[in-house]
Amino acid sequence: MRAEQTELLTWYAQHRRDLPWRATSDPYRVLVSETMLQQTQVARVVPFYERFLALFPDEKALAAASDEAIHRAWKGLGYPSRVERLRAACAAVLARGSWPRDVAGLIELPGIGPYTARAVAAFAFAAPVAVLDTNVARVLCRVGGLDPAAGREALQSAADGALAIGQPVAWNNAVMELGALVCTARTPACAACPWTARCVAARDPGRLAATAAPLKAASTKVAYGEPAPPRGTPVVKVVLALIHHDGRYLAQRRPVDKHAGGVWELPGGKVEAGEDERRALAREVAEELGVEVLAARHLLTWHHRYPDRWVRLACYRVRLFAPEAVRPLASDGVEWFAPGDLLAQVFPAGTAPLVARLRKYHRLK
Ligand code: SF4
Repeated sequence: MRAEQTELLTWYAQHRRDLPWRATSDPYRVLVSETMLQQTQVARVVPFYERFLALFPDEKALAAASDEAIHRAWKGLGYPSRVERLRAACAAVLARGSWPRDVAGLIELPGIGPYTARAVAAFAFAAPVAVLDTNVARVLCRVGGLDPAAGREALQSAADGALAIGQPVAWNNAVMELGALVCTARTPACAACPWTARCVAARDPGRLAATAAPLKAASTKVAYGEPAPPRGTPVVKVVLALIHHDGRYLAQRRPVDKHAGGVWELPGGKVEAGEDERRALAREVAEELGVEVLAARHLLTWHHRYPDRWVRLACYRVRLFAPEAVRPLASDGVEWFAPGDLLAQVFPAGTAPLVARLRKYHRLK
């Protein structure tokens, strides 16, 4: 182990807080804690966490709970959509029979993003992955002199490079704990820090201020598609389903007797009067593929101008109850593609922003 890793792990062993989720490697309990901690402070989460687990001790109990029961248990924590996502993830785990044990598998669960997938992989399954939250990013930027404007990927790569591979649980907790207790945003206690002698920012007030909220600075907004049309312009609303299963995406081939026949496209269609996007998505998937939507998460919305009309397209990442049962009810065939193969196909011009977004996500040129 490198000297700086030993220094931090020694500090952590002496100063760590005894938080209840640090005493478990049960993926359900880890996910509950990570979900609660996403937008709520540690001190508030602790009593909620314990009460919630008394009511819903495992994924089976939560997946079977009613809307009313889960919202009652969540009341006071805020952002109630979090508990719905948590329940959807538990339902997906039960549907597949076990917890995925790595980041690639966990990120396929509904409602689980890259941060949470890494946290569950590391804390529940001791996978050698680094977790990057705002505390971790701040510490790494300050110690290593990294510029937050380098972007999230550079920060994640710095976190990966710093990881004590053999001790992912202790290491990830240690860096987070240093950021939460010592290397705080506004008043870092450098004199009490195990890394003060090797820290680039410790004696540089300008750098300390510039790295107070590194993830905010690292998030660069990318605009996809055309700017929204002027107010009052009639716009057709369309939903698209990016259906994924086992690391593959589903596409269907447009019938040859239709406009752009033979081109691959995502299932979806117009939002009808009185429908919201999710209802339209479920209807289109049932009509075009004969299957039910298990979970849908918004991915991207953009506008496209055709010669005669404006269209607003909203794409959702979708999981199905029975992906193996899809049938081409409105197309000339369906196929599951690996991401690179899907993005190598020709798609209708209106979906170019989605293709660009997916290329970025999968780091494809
Ligand atoms: S020395 Fe100060 S700025 Fe550097 S990591 Fe420690 S607390 Fe943060």
